[in-house]
Amino acid sequence: MSGGQRENGPLVPTEDYFVGLAEYQHALSGHMDWLRGWYSEILNWDSAPRAPLPACPFDTWFDHAGDAILGGFPGFVALGGLHREIHDRADRITARAASGQTVTTSDYEAIMALVLAFGTAAQTLERDVWRTLATVDPLTGLGNRQTMMTQLIGERDRVIRLGQPCCIGLADIDLFKRINDTFGHATGDRVLRAVAECLRNAVRPYDILYRYGGEEFLVCLPSASLEVGRLVLERMRLAIAELKIADGHGTPIPVTVTFGLAPLSGDISVEESFECADIALYKGKLAGRNQVVIHTPETEV
Ligand code: GH3
Ligand code: MG
Ligand code: MG
Repeated sequence: MSGGQRENGPLVPTEDYFVGLAEYQHALSGHMDWLRGWYSEILNWDSAPRAPLPACPFDTWFDHAGDAILGGFPGFVALGGLHREIHDRADRITARAASGQTVTTSDYEAIMALVLAFGTAAQTLERDVWRTLATVDPLTGLGNRQTMMTQLIGERDRVIRLGQPCCIGLADIDLFKRINDTFGHATGDRVLRAVAECLRNAVRPYDILYRYGGEEFLVCLPSASLEVGRLVLERMRLAIAELKIADGHGTPIPVTVTFGLAPLSGDISVEESFECADIALYKGKLAGRNQVVIHTPETEV
């Protein structure tokens, strides 16, 4: 996943991105206003004196709100650098005009090249933010279902190419409907976020997590055999069972998760791997929940 939603990194709520995008547009248009004012000043240098240009708001945005929300996107730092270069160049041209020197065509061309590069960088950053919004589950910040299948197909191709094992685990919160019914939907959402965060903390940086259904998650474990996969999922299961979540009155909310584990292999399709993990999960639910169960194509149903 590109940008600010660093792979399995800290959760940034989707609403924050929407607010961040609005503030970004505001900072960009403030910069364009400043640039327009500056052009007008330089082009009319000899005419009557004018009021000083208002400060460009972009820097303040960049150092504070921008950095907080968009700071993790790869193009963010470069955009700030281009913005600084535009202002440095504009300041030099202004100083030259003030000292009575001619502003040359190459001065204009140099600043125009920077302005164009800034515009391109600004568009790229915005596109990356939108791409993240389209691929991320708003509640938990994990990858959403839309991206899951494409990425799993890619992982299966890697399995075939590199000859390494890989497995997928399905995680389903136990009796979640009862949590909603007892503590309310908002508390249910809080539980979902806590479980997602717990899963995220338990995986390695190259493992991939998705929320693929209401209270259902998928974890893809590249290079992991079923034995290693079982250990990883056991660790997750214990961490979730030990979560200390309480409702508004301090009443503890017990949360457990059942896991189904299956190989992602070149011998079967991604859909068949998914079916195996689903069968394993179903068996785990039947056997009393809060456990990790493995199912492979060879296992008898
Ligand atoms: P089991 O142990 O068999 O999985 O039982 P369960 O109650 O977890 O399973 P069930 O499928 O009966 O209920 C899942 C519930 O998850 C029902 C649905 O209202 C709730 N749910 C789905 N999405 C959300 C969500 O985004 N927020 C909240 N709070 N609840 C959700
Ligand atoms: Mg379910
Ligand atoms: Mg459930």
